[in-house]
Amino acid sequence: MDSPARRQTAERVWTVAIVGGGPAGLMAAEVLLARGLRVELYDAMPSVGRKFLLAGVGGMNITHSEPFAPFVARYGARRNQVEPWLAAFDGQALRDWVHGLGIDTFVGSSGRVFPTQMKAAPLLRAWLARLREAGLAIHVRHRWLGWSTDGALRFATPEGEKTASADAVLLALGGGSWAKLGSDGTWVATLAESGVAVAPLVPANCGFEADWSAHFKDKFAGAPLKAVVASVSLPDGSTLSRRGEFVVSEYGVEGSLVYALSAPLRDAIAAHGEATLMLDLSPDKSAERVAAEVAHPRGSRSLSSHLQSKVGIHGVKAGLLRECLTKEQFADPARLAAAIKALPVRLTAPRPLDEAISSAGGVRFDAVDTRLMLTALPGVFCAGEMLDWEAPTGGYLLTACFASGRIAAEGIAAWLVESAAAS
Ligand SMILES: Cc1cc2nc3c(=O)[nH]c(=O)nc-3n(C[C@H](O)[C@H](O)[C@H](O)COP(=O)(O)OP(=O)(O)OC[C@H]3O[C@@H](n4cnc5c(N)ncnc54)[C@H](O)[C@@H]3O)c2cc1C
Repeated sequence: MDSPARRQTAERVWTVAIVGGGPAGLMAAEVLLARGLRVELYDAMPSVGRKFLLAGVGGMNITHSEPFAPFVARYGARRNQVEPWLAAFDGQALRDWVHGLGIDTFVGSSGRVFPTQMKAAPLLRAWLARLREAGLAIHVRHRWLGWSTDGALRFATPEGEKTASADAVLLALGGGSWAKLGSDGTWVATLAESGVAVAPLVPANCGFEADWSAHFKDKFAGAPLKAVVASVSLPDGSTLSRRGEFVVSEYGVEGSLVYALSAPLRDAIAAHGEATLMLDLSPDKSAERVAAEVAHPRGSRSLSSHLQSKVGIHGVKAGLLRECLTKEQFADPARLAAAIKALPVRLTAPRPLDEAISSAGGVRFDAVDTRLMLTALPGVFCAGEMLDWEAPTGGYLLTACFASGRIAAEGIAAWLVESAAAS
């Protein structure tokens, strides 16, 4: 194979600086090392892969087993940009790669793919050992600050400011959530100053605030709403619906079902100041059946026990109905039945970016070429969550981070060869 390494002069091996040691940066390092390049990886934190490790705490969902077409559709408005990454490295390729590290995977009932132990730590340990063996140099506690006037990378380190030069640079700095794990989004200002178009970072896969009454909060904060269907209206007039569960929290709502709808909910709040989460609390019964059950004579039974025995509505579901309906609506069988099938819950704000699972926004796709090089800064590439795409949870985030790291690494290798040929 005509690799960059073969074309490098005998005296000099190309050096690539990677800033950011998350899944995207580490994957790029692996590809570049395999091509014989020298890779110096810098990270602000005392160790790399901290968010990846956190992602493994609740069960590391590394990818999804669904077919390619629905998989790429998860990237919504950015599916066209993400598709070529996944065409080169899809969910199955990622699973094969994990297996190559000696870690088995399994497909859960939802189609999500997990490492057998459900954890990220064994995978990261095995991967870092392999990368170090391949020659990866890791410089921790190096916070990237931007460029010096001579074009070198500037880093804040415990020993003071240092600079480093490289033949090409990959920025894989992550998004803006969970800043304490290293990706704090401060790079947004640095890149914007260098003329790179960046969409503001906003929360994705996040919880939302609702104006709960003190009584409802006291009684139900922490309670899960199981087996419901939640829907949100999209700007084109269609409706996005998902089945699953979420949790009523002190401030509003959170959990997987809410995260799945978080992009349109967030965008609706940005546009209109509020959003409506429409809930079907009894999705397995038709509206007619619910109406008939609610209207069924209940004799001396209380309305609560009638709802429980006839429609299975009790606990937090009943509490939510009381919270969102007036007394008159709750007492009117027709309106109560309609609300069980379509209960509007008003959401007022997304939770702060720092609490989100991921962020939307980032380096805009019109600021990079197809190999992910910044057009404003030739020789500087970007990968991972810092690019302007988003996806729901389900393994789609990590898959695109890994895949984009590979695309950027291939792009760097090709660009180095082209630049050398042109000079
Ligand atoms: C609680 C939680 C659970 C998650 N669970 C899942 C899951 O199950 N499945 C899934 O697909 N995704 C999950 N994710 C999302 C996934 O972890 C991220 O999308 C992914 O880690 C992003 O990879 P990245 O390489 O782009 O960036 P990151 O992993 O954020 O890595 C960026 C690196 O850059 C470094 N850095 C940032 N700024 C600087 C700087 N100025 N100088 C030097 N270094 C810097 C950081 O220290 C960090 O190491 C989860 C996220 C969270 C928070």
